Amino acid sequence: MLQNKVAEFKKLLKNTKNAVVVTHFNPDGDAIGSSLGLYHILKKLKIKTTVILPNAAPVFLHWMKDYSKALCFDIEKEKCEKIINKADILFALDFNSLSRLEMLGNSIKNANCKKIMIDHHREPEKFANLYFHSVKAGSTCELIYDWLKLLSLTKHIDRATASCLYTGIMTDTGSFRYRGVNSKTHLIISELLKTGIDASLIHSNVYDTYSLNRLKLIGYCLNNKLEIIKNKAAYFTLSNNEQAQFQVQKGDTEGLVNYPFSIKGIEVCAFFSEAPEGYIKISLRSKGTIDVNTFARKYFNGGGHINAAGGKSFLSLKATAQLFETKVNEII
Ligand code: 5GP
Ligand code: MN
Repeated sequence: MLQNKVAEFKKLLKNTKNAVVVTHFNPDGDAIGSSLGLYHILKKLKIKTTVILPNAAPVFLHWMKDYSKALCFDIEKEKCEKIINKADILFALDFNSLSRLEMLGNSIKNANCKKIMIDHHREPEKFANLYFHSVKAGSTCELIYDWLKLLSLTKHIDRATASCLYTGIMTDTGSFRYRGVNSKTHLIISELLKTGIDASLIHSNVYDTYSLNRLKLIGYCLNNKLEIIKNKAAYFTLSNNEQAQFQVQKGDTEGLVNYPFSIKGIEVCAFFSEAPEGYIKISLRSKGTIDVNTFARKYFNGGGHINAAGGKSFLSLKATAQLFETKVNEII
């Protein structure tokens, strides 16, 4: 079975001249790391490849090699569509549903090329021709490594590729601390380190490049906005006005949702922010067996993983928080 799949992947790559790599809206470290990591490999295989993002990534991810060559669909829609129409294959990385692509979703749905999904989110939608999917993987970057290994392509992993894959594994595992991190994760990291990458610099690039405003925003949220429920759940809300006050930039609120976990007893954390798109963007995190993937699907038009999920609400910020308060009581 697996051998058949390997043969199929190999055949596909052999017959490919033009490839497109897409990832989810508001791309994070794993989305950009896996997309650019795969891009570097495909280039080495002499496949003309374009990374197409639904929208830009936060600046702390722009240092990855060739980020500037990626196209943003929200800015260059026509150019992206032409490239998608010319592609022989399309890689869908780090998302399980076309709705995670926002406006780019329709173009991908209608594209005639072969589609390959490489992802680790629960319940993948059936839009691809070939799947390399596992919810056991802590990150899509880990799956990219596994996929390269399966196809005997790890020899092409150079420093630039390794830095990309390291970043995705690092960000999606909370710097190697979440449940699901195991000896295999560290073995892959060990292989990536052997290429000579500067892991310390990668951590600094991602985590030590905050603006003063971003740090003050965290202080403001912790001091003024933190709500605790039964000493088991915690959440913050952030309005458009508050975001303007701290000149919030893309990515500034990343990681904020996790802070209350440092309080003893907290098992569920949530963060609600007014998004520029007009809805409330929701981030949910949990510990142990509390399943925020199901919770996000049930109440907040979303999904993700058991311990990390997201979603949207079309209610007001206040009503969204109230709905959360009511429903979270049923799972804590
Ligand atoms: P974050 O809170 O970091 O934005 O997202 C946490 C996890 O939930 C990620 O794995 C992400 O892919 C998933 N996720 C975030 N927002 C949504 C959403 O609107 N829909 C779905 N299905 N998953 C989401
Ligand atoms: Mn991921």
